[in-house]
Amino acid sequence: MSWNQQIVKVNNKSLVLQTIKNQGPISRADIAQQLGLTKGTVSSLVNELIEAKLCYETGPGESSGGRRPVLLVFNKAAGYSIGIDLGVNYILGVLTDLDGNIINEKKLNVNVETYDQTLSYMKNIIYFLISNAPESHYGIIGIGIGVPGIVNKEGDILLAPNLGWKQIPLKSDLEEEFQLPIIIENEANAGAYGEKCFGAGKDFEDLIYISAGIGIGVGFILNNELYRGAQGFSGEMGHMIIEINGKECKCGSKGCWELYASEKALLEDAASLSTGDTDVNHLELEYLIENAEGNEKLSSLFEQTGYYLGVGINNIINTFNPEQIIIGNRLAMGKEWMEAPLKQVIEDYTLKQHQRELQITFAKLSIYSAALGVSSYATENFLKSDILN
Ligand SMILES: [Zn+2]
Repeated sequence: MSWNQQIVKVNNKSLVLQTIKNQGPISRADIAQQLGLTKGTVSSLVNELIEAKLCYETGPGESSGGRRPVLLVFNKAAGYSIGIDLGVNYILGVLTDLDGNIINEKKLNVNVETYDQTLSYMKNIIYFLISNAPESHYGIIGIGIGVPGIVNKEGDILLAPNLGWKQIPLKSDLEEEFQLPIIIENEANAGAYGEKCFGAGKDFEDLIYISAGIGIGVGFILNNELYRGAQGFSGEMGHMIIEINGKECKCGSKGCWELYASEKALLEDAASLSTGDTDVNHLELEYLIENAEGNEKLSSLFEQTGYYLGVGINNIINTFNPEQIIIGNRLAMGKEWMEAPLKQVIEDYTLKQHQRELQITFAKLSIYSAALGVSSYATENFLKSDILN
């Protein structure tokens, strides 16, 4: 077989696999018809996929006249993927099957630590998930990590202001430890992708995901694809200026959005309510949410955060004209108080043309959006890899 023929064959095999994964149970004849391939070609590719344990045959389906066809199903348990959402104040790890179902998870609340300390927490979580994975043909197929910072195409974290990190070789450190394919992605991009694949964004082509945690990041799905920018640095909208001459930001600028609309801003305001200082170390968002009911001062802080989120989202909507805005990450837990003031800002200020057919919603996957997004990246990578050769 020539090199060209080999490429065509691998491409076709990948298409057959995707079709089975997305539409199974499905017959060989239906795959052939959909992809415009001959039945013979599909049969031989399917045989190889069965041999590679990536799909299997299941009971006969509906007959369209003759013999009832055998149907093919994707083998979602052929291997397992790991997704890690590295937050500023938590690390969440999930183990998923190849269809993105969560099989196991582990979460750790942490305060900002050195890179070495954080790396060792992360390794512990990954080892836990690996050792608790079910037996499978391929084992762990890869690890995806979502990080709150700017990541280059080599998987180095160039800058993570809220972690205080610069120039961190996370990808190579993890490759060395685990000898597995590692993908590093910005967590807002990962969250956008997670919601697009499995959550609130499933039926939308142009959606924008607002990751509102200790900082704010934004992930864009435009025309059904993740938009990364020329060098992969898009979405740092937490640092768009919403208050001229506002508070000073770690990024070197002033009045950045995340100084007013993030979990950190909320915690700081809540701390000054109770003790007069802004020491946030003894406060947790979960605690504030539990106590906001009936506490007017506290619930109005959430409303204020919702208002400021709305201000930034207004700017984003006027720029991108999306179909859908999804508010995700930890602050989405405060939906009860934030939603009304947030939507009010949009209604009052956003250009009316943009508001038609616009949906503003909260993440369906709750805090799992980013972890599921990166685990899904790892799976996709695996399904396009050498296993198809
Ligand atoms: Zn800033």
